[in-house]
Amino acid sequence: MRESDLLSAIASRSANLGARFPHVLTGPGDDCAVVRIGTTDCLLTVDQVIEDRHFKKGTPLDLIARKAIARSISDIAAMAGTPICALATGAFSKDFDQAHADELSAALKRWGEYWNCPLVGGDIASLPRETDPLTLTVTVLGSTHAARGPILRSGAQPGDSIYVTGKLGGSFDPATGLGKHLTFEPRLAEARALADALGPNLHAMMDLSDGLGRDASRMADASRAHFELQADLIPRNAPDWHRAASEGEDYELLFTASGHVPAAVANSAVTRIGTVSSGSGCFIIESTNSINARDLGWDHT
Ligand SMILES: [Mg+2]
Repeated sequence: MRESDLLSAIASRSANLGARFPHVLTGPGDDCAVVRIGTTDCLLTVDQVIEDRHFKKGTPLDLIARKAIARSISDIAAMAGTPICALATGAFSKDFDQAHADELSAALKRWGEYWNCPLVGGDIASLPRETDPLTLTVTVLGSTHAARGPILRSGAQPGDSIYVTGKLGGSFDPATGLGKHLTFEPRLAEARALADALGPNLHAMMDLSDGLGRDASRMADASRAHFELQADLIPRNAPDWHRAASEGEDYELLFTASGHVPAAVANSAVTRIGTVSSGSGCFIIESTNSINARDLGWDHT
């Protein structure tokens, strides 16, 4: 199974959800769902971390809890929202003892509160085998940006420039399993500052979890536009642009905008990496080569 195929099948099956359920403003396929409750629009997202998939066995429990919360918070940031509260579930292997379960739940509570997103409920279950992987699932509810509402993936327009915050690649140290993928700061402040500063000129935004190539392709598809990225403009922590665009787990913001964009927002540099035009697909230009960005990046299989 390819994760991207399954996700697009789910998104297309739910394409007319809003026609049947008018309170669903944005269904599957964006960073968060947008749901109207009364007269208020809410953001909803859920994500999971699984041992030996999203973190190595032996990773400190505090960092596992941090990542579980931060991944969902990052999806709220992707829409320029503000987290409100979280629900968490944990599934533990048969030999995971009470003291470790206590330590993990205390860490989930602490990290939720760190991002002003208290845990308000959840569930725990014991898995049948000692070899079963530790799994945490975190749902976060958020509010939308007061002036702009949610910033979707689908709003990129021909003539926009394409930007990223921070630097890409090098998030995962294969020797230790540690790195930025465990300690990243969700770009809440940056996303809000961009929505404040750019107003209606901020057209599309998402967070980078599966690598710039794959994620930018998803944004181009959602926007029904053509994206062209310049390899030598991609700001990177990795030794070359190819790794920077494909390793994933950056949790930086990818956005498109028209007009003036500041060189830095909140705590992050902002780098222009490409342009949007009419057409389809996302390509990375390296001197005279044009590489289909869809083939880069992390697809969970
Ligand atoms: Mg996301």
